[in-house]
Amino acid sequence: MIKVTVWNEFIHERIDAEAREVYPDGIHSVIKKFLEANEDITVRTATLDEPECGLTEEVLENTDVLIWWGHMKHGDVSDEIAERVQNEVLKGMGLIALHSGHHSKPFKRLMGTSCNLTWREKDRERIWCCKPGHPIAEGVPESFVLENEEMYSEPFGVPNPDDTVFIGWYAGGEVFRSGCTFTRENGRIFYFQPGHETFGSFYNENIRKIITNAVRWAAPVLRTEKLVCPHSLTALI
Ligand code: ZN
Repeated sequence: MIKVTVWNEFIHERIDAEAREVYPDGIHSVIKKFLEANEDITVRTATLDEPECGLTEEVLENTDVLIWWGHMKHGDVSDEIAERVQNEVLKGMGLIALHSGHHSKPFKRLMGTSCNLTWREKDRERIWCCKPGHPIAEGVPESFVLENEEMYSEPFGVPNPDDTVFIGWYAGGEVFRSGCTFTRENGRIFYFQPGHETFGSFYNENIRKIITNAVRWAAPVLRTEKLVCPHSLTALI
């Protein structure tokens, strides 16, 4: 079984009527529901208002893949928790950063760059699959349309991805590397752009397929302590 924790800031859906209408029980609940329909995936959720943001050492040690949705309260996640997440990714935990998670503390730490991008509130987006042979693209069509999404565009201030699996193209003409993979030590990371809180992208079958594929791809191959230089080798030299 792949153990997934879906972390959501869970603010917009409580204070904004438009977001609440789309995700009445929170974005995390919708993601949990479609993921746990798979027999090989088990899901728990965690939110910002829980002690230690719901991300205690015990929770993270029992998480194979952490999914992250945050937007307006990135700063309320303590540096200690962000470092804890970063360290677990280096050991081998998978991380899927969704939408505005590009500016979350754990993702920025793991990238080491600004992760800035350009944005506009609303546009029609066509998502193109650039790597149809990649495990995250399995069963996903050549392209598909999201009638309403927040427009994120280049330049995207991340290091060069290992793979750009999807590119988003907007009616306004902009483009964006909307699905990118990264590796940090043992950990696999996937950034995926769709998922604004007032649009229903997490109900879209293709988006669900991509996130499900990403969970399976990001699950640890090796989960171990951070790599260290062994003393025995130093002794040999
Ligand atoms: Zn947004």
